Amino acid sequence: MALDVPFSRSDDRESGGKEEMPTLKCAARTDIGRERENNEDAVVNRDNLAAVADGMGGAPGGEIASAAAATLVESAFTGSSLDELTAAARAANRTIWDRARTEAGLEGMGTTLCAVGLLETGSLAVVNVGDSRAYLWRGGSLRRLTDDHSITAELLRRGEITEEEAVDHPHRHILTRALGVAPTVEVDGCVHPVQDGDRLVLCTDGLFTEVQEEEIASVMATDHDIAAAKDSLVELALSRGGHDNISVVVADVRT
Ligand code: MN
Repeated sequence: MALDVPFSRSDDRESGGKEEMPTLKCAARTDIGRERENNEDAVVNRDNLAAVADGMGGAPGGEIASAAAATLVESAFTGSSLDELTAAARAANRTIWDRARTEAGLEGMGTTLCAVGLLETGSLAVVNVGDSRAYLWRGGSLRRLTDDHSITAELLRRGEITEEEAVDHPHRHILTRALGVAPTVEVDGCVHPVQDGDRLVLCTDGLFTEVQEEEIASVMATDHDIAAAKDSLVELALSRGGHDNISVVVADVRT
């Protein structure tokens, strides 16, 4: 009888006294698509961090830029704060910028970055630069957590073009912000509280230009397993032509 008490105290200590601490489980896939010669996308799927990056600047710059962003953010993020994740994105910007300026053949390289990290507080930190996206699937509906930094997205936000005009707009792929193209960068960041059963979808434009948001929601409603869900999304984009590299991270939050 006396043994029960120490055992239960020991268990409390092992979980840090925070039995409600959420966890993040990720499944990721990146696919070259059907029309590109290189895959310039990169993904991160770690227990507390999901990210996608979409490189630009042609071979080999695009691949180097997106891989650098993914690697640097992954190594810098410990879960302490949104500021930490934002600082990691800024540091990646500086590193890519320095290499683009000094290494032959890498001029003009850059990358998007969209990252979602689970904080020690139990909330999610979201950072974004460029036109990769994070969505939250909660209670049967899909909500976008990030704003695209592209010319068409800015025009859309200012009400100067319609959603329909944006789809075929000649400047839809031109970014207004990216990592590595200037010595400093403005990084969007926010913190979201989580609920049990929340699911995140991070993706590059190779997914969302082929697959409508309603269809992403439909896959989330159908595929209860994150590994199956990420495959369904990539296969759907490929079935529509797969004109670009396609990257997806699907992550489940458990509290
Ligand atoms: Mn792309």
